[in-house]
Amino acid sequence: MKISELLKQNKLSLSFEVFPPKLESAFDSVKTATEEIAKLKPSFMSVTYGAGGGTSKYTLEIAKNIKEMYEVPTLAHLTCVSSTRKTVSEKIEAIKEAGITNIMALRGDIPSDMLDADRSGWDYRYAIDLVKELKESDPDLCIGGACYPEVHPESATQKEDIIHLKEKVDAGCDFLTTQMFFDNNLLYNFLYKIREAGITVPVIPGIMPITNANQVERAIKLSGSFMPQRFKSIVDKFGSDPAAMKQAGIAYATDQIIDLYANGITNVHVYSMNKPDVAMKIQSNLSDILGKEIPTWQ
Ligand code: FAD
Repeated sequence: MKISELLKQNKLSLSFEVFPPKLESAFDSVKTATEEIAKLKPSFMSVTYGAGGGTSKYTLEIAKNIKEMYEVPTLAHLTCVSSTRKTVSEKIEAIKEAGITNIMALRGDIPSDMLDADRSGWDYRYAIDLVKELKESDPDLCIGGACYPEVHPESATQKEDIIHLKEKVDAGCDFLTTQMFFDNNLLYNFLYKIREAGITVPVIPGIMPITNANQVERAIKLSGSFMPQRFKSIVDKFGSDPAAMKQAGIAYATDQIIDLYANGITNVHVYSMNKPDVAMKIQSNLSDILGKEIPTWQ
C-alpha cells in the first residue's frame, strides 16, 4: 500500500524504522529483530540504506521479508550521492521487482574526504535528482523525502533550506519525514514555515527514543538536534542507570508522540533502531490512543 494513501486514513498511527546489518554474520539477528517489530503491525516500516550503522546491501532483502511475511507496507530508502546512474537504476528496478512501491529518495551524506570536491561532474548532486529519476521511471511510485526542522547542516539559513525543500517536493515527493527532534515546538514552527512556503504534502515527524546515555552524543552529532533542558536533566539523573534511562527515554518519546497527536499529527515515525522491546513499549504506552479516528477538521 502506498504511504500517501495510508496517511489519508484519519487514524492515529505509528510507523517504525529499522536498519540492515553491517555484516553478513549479523543478518539473522537483525532479520529476527525486524520481524518482531513487524509483528506489532505498524502502519508501515522503513528500512534505511547505509545509515544507522547498517549497509545498503541488505535493505531490499529486509524490506521484502517484512512485506511478504507480515504484510506490513514497507518504505525502502535509497541514496544517490556516491552512486552512478547505472547502479541507481539497477537498484530502482530491483525495488520495483520486489513489489515495493514506497521509496525514500535521499541524497546521502557526502563522504568527508569529498566535501570540498568539485561536484559539477557528479551523476547526483542532490536528492531532487533522484526524485526526478524515480518519477520518470514510474509516476505511480510513492516517493518520500527527508526534511529538517532544525535546518540541514549544509544550509546557511532555514529560508535557503526550505526553498530547496520546496523544489524537491515539486519534483515529486508525496510526503516528507523529518529528522529527529526533541522539542516539539521546533516541529510546529517548521510546519508553519513550510506551509507558508507552499509545501502542502504530509509531513511525518520522526521521533528517536533515547534509551541509553551513549546514544545522546551520537544523536546530537548525527542530527545537530537541540536538547531541551528537560531532556538533559533526565540524562544527568538516570544516564548511569541503564534500566532507569531506558524507561525515562521511552517515557520522553511517548510524551512527545502524545503531544504530536494532540496537535493534529496522525502518523509518527519512530526511529526504533532494531529494538523490538522499545517499539513494543511505546506501542503499549499508546494502546488506548492508537487507531482513534480524528475529527476531519484537523
Ligand atoms: P537534499 O535534499 O539533497 O539536501 C541536502 C542539502 O542540500 C540541504 O542543505 C539542502 O537545502 C541542500 N540543497 C538541496 N538542493 C540544493 C540546490 N539545488 N542547491 C544548493 N543546495 C541544495 N542517509 C543514508 O545514508 N541512508 C538512509 O537511509 C537515510 N535515511 C534518512 C531518513 C531521514 C528521514 C532523514 C531526515 C535523513 C536520512 N539520511 C539517510 C541522512 C541523509 O542522507 C542526510 O541528511 C543527507 O546529508 C541529506 O540528504 P537529503 O536527501 O535530505 O538531501
